[in-house]
Amino acid sequence: AAHRAAGGTATDTHCPYCALQCGMTLHPTAAAGTGAGAGHGPGPEPAPEPGVSVAVAERPGFPVNRGALCGKGRTAPAVLASRTRLTTPLIRRPDGELAPAGWDEALDRIAEGLARTRTAYGPDAVGVFGGGGLTNEKAYALGKFARLVLGTSQIDYNGRFCMSSAAAAGTAAFGLDRGLPFPLADIPRTGCVILVGANPAETMPPALRYFTELRENGGKLVVVDPRRTRTAEQADLHLAPRPGTDLALALGMLHLVVAEGRVDEEFVAARTAGWPEARSAAMAHWPELVERITGVPLPALREAVALFCDAPASMVLTARGPEQQSKGTDTVGAWINLCLATGRAGRPLSGYGALTGQGNGQGGREHGQKADQLPGYRKLTDPAARAHVAEVWGVSPDSLPGPGRSAYELLDALGGDVRALLLMGSNPVVSAPRAGHVEERIRSLGFLAVADVVLSDTARLADVVLPVAQWAEETGTTTSLEGRVLLRRRAVTPPAGVRTDLEVLNSLAARLGWEKGFPTDPEEVFDELRRASAGGPADYSGITYRRIADGDGVFWPCAEGAAAGAEPSSRTAGAGRTGGGSGTPRLFLDRFAHPDGRARFAAVTHRPAAEEPDADYPVHLTTGRVLAQYQSGAQTRRVDALNTAAPGPFVQLHPQLAERLGAAEGEPLAVTSRRGRTVAAARISPDIRPDTVFMPFHWPGEGRANTVTNPALDPVSRMPEFKVCAVRVERVP
Ligand code: SF4
Repeated sequence: AAHRAAGGTATDTHCPYCALQCGMTLHPTAAAGTGAGAGHGPGPEPAPEPGVSVAVAERPGFPVNRGALCGKGRTAPAVLASRTRLTTPLIRRPDGELAPAGWDEALDRIAEGLARTRTAYGPDAVGVFGGGGLTNEKAYALGKFARLVLGTSQIDYNGRFCMSSAAAAGTAAFGLDRGLPFPLADIPRTGCVILVGANPAETMPPALRYFTELRENGGKLVVVDPRRTRTAEQADLHLAPRPGTDLALALGMLHLVVAEGRVDEEFVAARTAGWPEARSAAMAHWPELVERITGVPLPALREAVALFCDAPASMVLTARGPEQQSKGTDTVGAWINLCLATGRAGRPLSGYGALTGQGNGQGGREHGQKADQLPGYRKLTDPAARAHVAEVWGVSPDSLPGPGRSAYELLDALGGDVRALLLMGSNPVVSAPRAGHVEERIRSLGFLAVADVVLSDTARLADVVLPVAQWAEETGTTTSLEGRVLLRRRAVTPPAGVRTDLEVLNSLAARLGWEKGFPTDPEEVFDELRRASAGGPADYSGITYRRIADGDGVFWPCAEGAAAGAEPSSRTAGAGRTGGGSGTPRLFLDRFAHPDGRARFAAVTHRPAAEEPDADYPVHLTTGRVLAQYQSGAQTRRVDALNTAAPGPFVQLHPQLAERLGAAEGEPLAVTSRRGRTVAAARISPDIRPDTVFMPFHWPGEGRANTVTNPALDPVSRMPEFKVCAVRVERVP
């Protein structure tokens, strides 16, 4: 809440970046001297009006991070005061240049561009692309805008690239997907955690303390990662499989669980379905075969099984490593199988969870900007869901379009079936797989409108760019990786010339003939979202701004009437114990969310990555993040302190590979795949497998990692295979 503090009114809020959503307090300060700089930002842009900015202070009372913040969070105000932020709309003029324009002209141009396309080619010729950083209110309004005002089915968002495989596998197994079905605070109290393809020491450093406390309490940490990351350094056991083989690793562990008589038969019989098929699939993966596929020595595999099963309670947590694969859903399913077979799910201090990446990666997928979903995590193909949401929206269910293309498929269709695009809160020119191709598709569009806080690499290609408000300049809710709904509060007034995304949608809707209005007040939007979500899997109907503010957030599901001490609502059956002022921190303790209350095993078998190394492309490439940058870097590359810490892309490679190439530390290396070529400095380290190189994906241009990544899609989640492809690495002459 806002409160008086030395130097002015302080505001308790949350970080704009990752899914941990650390609590912080903002204090007013003069905008000058914040350390903001041009960074790697684009060329000449309008300077912001001088005004009040904010400084970040610790907020020790918020339980998730207890005052700890990483460098990204501490320096987040620099983007508010950056000289490179946008404060006036830009329109591409006949000379091909983007030039400043008034709001009315810019909005008219967008409405005209979208309407012209729709009239000429039909509503599905207009696409909408959102982001996992948008607040719940914005994600909800954007989905409603696409389906009602534009009438298009062609909407998806960059969260598809984040953790859609975990969502698909979690839904299939448990009947409900919430990243973590238990609070982070349970981690130090369990006995063993297997962390698969996750590097919280760099992606969300304040979360590392949960794993440190686990080990201080005598628990064990197992890390599965092809690299010895800063997180792996903390582990009791580090398994480094070949990229793309962790599905086989999980199957090999399950094989050993069966062979060693460690199956919890009572739990399997009472609370699951599908065990015989999953068991057969696992038994076909002999440990020796798994050792050959993964490169993980058999004794290490046995040790992992023993650590996991000997503990009184244990967890598996995944992140992008197993998820960003063309078999990501099956890979996560295999890890969930391990939990189910050993009775490590739906019990206190045990279970499977995903560490979501983006700030609102969880909420962003619950409220309707995903191609196949309606608010409340409802399915767009479910007649009852369509009827409920249509009633809230005051339209006929028949007027709602059906499911559209997934994110990469939508980007791939640009310039073809999809001729105009409205983009909010995403920068696919840097973050999409096969990014050179995606950039070409974006350039081939008939019309592109982008709303962003800065002139991102994608916004540079737009016909119209709208400058919108940032995190500390507007109020809205996000849902953290724990499923905890939080309130980000407005702490400062946006600079003159800047409007909110909700105001943009309101203005466009009016221009496009939508007469029912689009609310611009975030709390009013949230109240409508609550009604739209009521009775759905992600039920927010009992969550209000006041209720969030009165505590430390509210865990969904939280049905209306679920006051402190209330019993579970029938609408949240399967969710576990709900009620209480904080909602439902723990799911599945009584039953899983499938109608029969049972969890489902997945009968999965190993298959290779879509692209394996060969004579022409003999090395694996895997990609990821570094401590001082965030996602496509559109914001963090504008912060001097972060640029000093992480100034540019690099290629991490093992000394053996460097020797074979004759490469020296720091010299430029070309990394080439069937999709393109990228160049970055060599970083030689024994902390990676000799058959694998790693590149961070935060930078555009010559060192853009996603130029070479593979868009092969998971058949269920439609997740691209960011985490593994085949490349050739060469010195640059
Ligand atoms: Fe922000 Fe994530 Fe860093 Fe916390 S860990 S300060 S939420 S970027």
